[in-house]
Amino acid sequence: MTLRSFVSGQWTSGTGVPSMLQNPSTEETIATADTTGLDFAAAVDHARQVGLPALRALSFAARGKLLLDASKAIHACRDELIGLAIDNGGNTRGDAKFDIDGAIGTLAAYAELGQKLGETTYLRDGEGTQPTRSTKLWGEHLWLSRLGVAVHINAFNFPAWGLCEKAAVAWLAGLPVISKPATSTALVAHRIVEVLLAKGCLPPGTLSLLCGSVGDLLSHLTEQDVLAFTGSSDTARILRSRVDMLGQGTRLNIEADSLNVALLGPDGAPGSELNDLFLQEVSKDITQKAGQKCTAIRRILVPMDRLDAIAADLVDRISSLRIGNPRDEGVQLGPLATRSQLHSVRAGIGTLLQDPGVTTLTGGAAPVADPGFFVAPTLLLAKDPHQATQVHRLEVFGPCATIMGYRDVAELATLVNRGGGGLVASVYSDDRRVIAELLPAIGPYHGRLYLGSGRLLGQTPGPGTALPAMNHGGPGHAGGGHELGGVRGLELYMQRCAVMGYKPIVEGLLPKGQTAPIGPS
Ligand code: NAP
Repeated sequence: MTLRSFVSGQWTSGTGVPSMLQNPSTEETIATADTTGLDFAAAVDHARQVGLPALRALSFAARGKLLLDASKAIHACRDELIGLAIDNGGNTRGDAKFDIDGAIGTLAAYAELGQKLGETTYLRDGEGTQPTRSTKLWGEHLWLSRLGVAVHINAFNFPAWGLCEKAAVAWLAGLPVISKPATSTALVAHRIVEVLLAKGCLPPGTLSLLCGSVGDLLSHLTEQDVLAFTGSSDTARILRSRVDMLGQGTRLNIEADSLNVALLGPDGAPGSELNDLFLQEVSKDITQKAGQKCTAIRRILVPMDRLDAIAADLVDRISSLRIGNPRDEGVQLGPLATRSQLHSVRAGIGTLLQDPGVTTLTGGAAPVADPGFFVAPTLLLAKDPHQATQVHRLEVFGPCATIMGYRDVAELATLVNRGGGGLVASVYSDDRRVIAELLPAIGPYHGRLYLGSGRLLGQTPGPGTALPAMNHGGPGHAGGGHELGGVRGLELYMQRCAVMGYKPIVEGLLPKGQTAPIGPS
C-alpha cells in the first residue's frame, strides 16, 4: 500500500524513494510513503486561499459542529483504526484505544466548547478597563483568530490523538490544518483523513495531510502561521533554529521530551489506598504503549525506608506481563514502534546504567524476541539519586523507569527539578502540608501536577492521560509549549489585541452572546 498525501485538494504520491512502514511485531513492510516532488508552496497557498475563508465564515458554534461530525466519523471506524494501530504501531488493543478514543474525545470536548462559545468568532480576555482618568476612554482585550495556516508535525506514538488534539483546537480557532504524522506510523492518521474527507465533515482546504517528509514546507510559512511540533528535543532544536533563521515570525509551539516523576509521599503507608493507587498507576504507566508516551513516568521517588518493598512490588507487576505480537491472545505488552526506537531504547538503558550506583532490577537491554522490536519492561534502581545524572536527563522512550529513595520532603523538590522541566509530576499524598510545600517548589517546573489521592482510587485515568480540559506541555526540557487546557488552547492560534477608544464603540465590539469574559488569560 502506498500512502498518498492530501494537498491542494487532491491525493498525491511522491516521486522519490519511499520510506517503509513496518509491522513492528513481524518486521513485515505494510506500506510506503513519500512526499518528494510535492508542491508545498501550493499546498500552503490552497489552505490559505480556500480553507481559511471557509472557517472564518463560521462561528465558534458552527466550527464546533464540524468537530462533532469529525468525532462521530472517527468513532464509526474505531475498530478498523484499532486494527491498523496494532499492525503499524505494535499497540495492544488497549494501547490503540487510548490513542483513538483520545482523538474522538478531544474532538468532542472542543465541539462542546465551540457550542459554549456561541455565535461569535472572537473572545474577550478578562474584564474591560478605564485606562486613564477619562470616563469616555475604555479598553478591552480581545482574542482574534490569526490569518494563517496551522502546520502540525506529530510524533510516532499517537498518530490519532496527535492529529486530532491539535486539529480540534486549530479548527475551533478558525485555522486550516496541514498535518504531518511521523512517517513510520502514519497508517492510522492517513485512514482518519480518508474517512473525514469521504464523509465530507470539513470544508475544502481545511485539512491537508503529508505522509513523508515536510520537504520545504516550512520555508513557505509567514507571520500569521503557526507551527506546532511534537517530538524529540533534537528535532525541536532543529525546528527552533530553522524558524528563527527563516525570520518569518511564524509562531512555534514545541511539545518535547520529559523525565516525568511520580513520588509517593511519606503518608503512603503499606496497604493504604494511596499506596495501592501509586503502585497501580506507576506500573501501568511504565508499560502502557510499551512506555512510548510523552507523559510516561520515568523517575519514581519513594521514602527510603520503603524503597526495597515498593521496588519488589513493581518488579512483580511489570515482569509478569506477557510480551508479544498484540494480535496474539493474552498479549499485554507489544513491541516498540520501529527498529530505530529499539536501538535507541537499548542504547538508552545502557547509558542510564553507566550512571554511578544504577543497577537493573528487572528487564534490561537484552533482545527479547526475533523478529520484532521487543524490549522487556525495565526497572532500574539509582542507589544515590543525587550522584546520578543521566536518569534525570535522558528520556528512554520505552518501557523503562528508574526508582530512587528520598529521606525527607525538603530533598524532593531538588530531585524532581533535576529533570529540567517536565510535562507532568505526580504527587501521591493526602497530606495537605506536603502538597502545599511541593506546589510552589516543583509547580514552576511543570505543565501539570497530578495529585494522586487514596480517595481517587477507581476515579482517575492517572497522570499519563492528557485530558482536553487540562493544560498539556511543560517548560524547559519539555519544550515550553502549551496545548489543550480547554479555551486556553485557542491562544496558540489567536492574537491578543488591546482595543482602546470611545467607550460605547468599544463596548459595541464585545463578542455577542458571551455573557462573561471567557478568553484565555
Ligand atoms: P522525532 O524523531 O523528533 O519526530 C517527530 C516528528 O518530526 C516526525 O513527524 C518527524 O517526521 C518530524 N521530523 C523529523 N525531523 C524533522 C525535520 N528536520 N524537520 C521537520 N520535521 C521533522 O520524534 P519521534 O521519535 O517521532 O517521537 C518521540 C519523541 O516525541 C519522544 O522524545 C517523546 O517524548 C516526544 N513526544 C512528546 C510529546 C509531548 O506532547 N510532549 C508527545 C509525544 C511524543 P518523520 O517521521 O518523517 O521523520
